[in-house]
Amino acid sequence: MISNLQTIICDKLNVLEKNIKIYPLSYCKIADIELQMVAINNIKNIAIYGKGLSFDAFEGNTVAEGFKLCPLIHTNRLALNKLLDYTCPQAFGKNISTFGAGDRLGLASPGHIRSISRSLAKPILAQQSKRELELTGRTYEDVLDSVSFAVFQEGYKDGFGADGDHLKEEAHIIDALNCGYTMITLDCSEKIGKGVEKLSSAEMENRYISIPADIRKRLEDKYLARTFNINGVQIKYTKLELIKNVLIYYEAICFIIFIYKKYLSPLKREKDFEISIDETESTTSEYGHLFVASEIIDAGVDVTSMAPKFIGEFQKGIDYIGNVADFEAQLGIHAAIADYFGYKLSIHSGSDKFSVFELIGDYTKGRLHLKTSGTNWLEAVGTIAERNPTLYRQIHKCAQKHFTEAKSFYDVSADISKVPDVDSVSDAFLKEYLTDTHSRQLLHITYGYILRDPEIRTSIYDTLNENEDLYIHRLETHIGRHLELVGLYNY
Ligand SMILES: [Zn+2]
Repeated sequence: MISNLQTIICDKLNVLEKNIKIYPLSYCKIADIELQMVAINNIKNIAIYGKGLSFDAFEGNTVAEGFKLCPLIHTNRLALNKLLDYTCPQAFGKNISTFGAGDRLGLASPGHIRSISRSLAKPILAQQSKRELELTGRTYEDVLDSVSFAVFQEGYKDGFGADGDHLKEEAHIIDALNCGYTMITLDCSEKIGKGVEKLSSAEMENRYISIPADIRKRLEDKYLARTFNINGVQIKYTKLELIKNVLIYYEAICFIIFIYKKYLSPLKREKDFEISIDETESTTSEYGHLFVASEIIDAGVDVTSMAPKFIGEFQKGIDYIGNVADFEAQLGIHAAIADYFGYKLSIHSGSDKFSVFELIGDYTKGRLHLKTSGTNWLEAVGTIAERNPTLYRQIHKCAQKHFTEAKSFYDVSADISKVPDVDSVSDAFLKEYLTDTHSRQLLHITYGYILRDPEIRTSIYDTLNENEDLYIHRLETHIGRHLELVGLYNY
């Protein structure tokens, strides 16, 4: 059945004469008004028909009596949120699998929704670290705006989350929470003791003595002279093991408790709180993970998920590097600890880790948060390689120019001398750059520099808007492979 609104859109906008795309899944009728996403010359608007307060809350151009075209601006996102609950983010707690899929450009969420909505996991669609916001020139508000509009466009009603990712500073936590983010990932990397593992036992003991005696006594009484039985895994601290973990994690533990009590606990709404101890020099041992978890939970922190640093390398945009058997052994212990305390195990830099996804699915049994961030950017570049070779070549050259600089932000091992010269390959070859680990990393970490070039930035958005269906399809396939291997597809 053709809705009133669709008839009006066709009638008033002269669909046959203009480049107009109507998004059928977005259509909804609520009380006196009808809404639908429509793109005119690749620029999206919410077409709205009706009257009353809700209608008036949307800002736009009146095309005819009771019919407006409303641009995708912040005010209209707030109006949409008021009218349609499902366009607001929500928290999911400890027992529902979640899949973090940050969207660097603000164009990937429709593809993420189509893929993740077919799985047992809920999507965390808004997810940007402060570093990513700075590199892409975006804000928390703008990231959430794009996601809410995408949820509306897809008519997706099953809930999504918004993660203020890898936050280290109070001001950023306040910003994200004020914008309505439902999840905070606290990055403890700056509070984690450095160089501790290189110290001799005498040096460790020396440092340990500077911690107040009453704290030392409490910790020794709690952790020594007992064996922790963590779902079949026996963990026993020697004095030295305890000292080492106190030196590495005690400050981070105090920081987590402080942030939780000051900002998360007083919030009157549901929230997810993730602890990230993954961005450190050394891998997280079972002693470290258990120590952090036990201290913060005993202090009343409600942890939704914890991200330890795993053995091997979780580099951006490429498969796991390392010994899979060692990874499996460690994963088993971390999953057991997470399970014992009842929170989700979180895997960061989770994109493209195809050789370990099945293990991750087996051991976590779905009590999992899998966080990916830049893989949607690579799919965007892949779409451009297929549809706009000239632009791809510009992007590639810009990436090469800034690779060395970009490496200071990201841990990658790419050797770009192994990347074929972009001037010597045919247009048909360009998409192959997205299948090679060296060129994937080259394109992955330089996005900030590429997006800073205004001409390239505009062309990227234009090309992706013109080729939205291909971009959605690529994302659906790529993210779908992740979910299938982790065992989260329910059919
Ligand atoms: Zn991380």
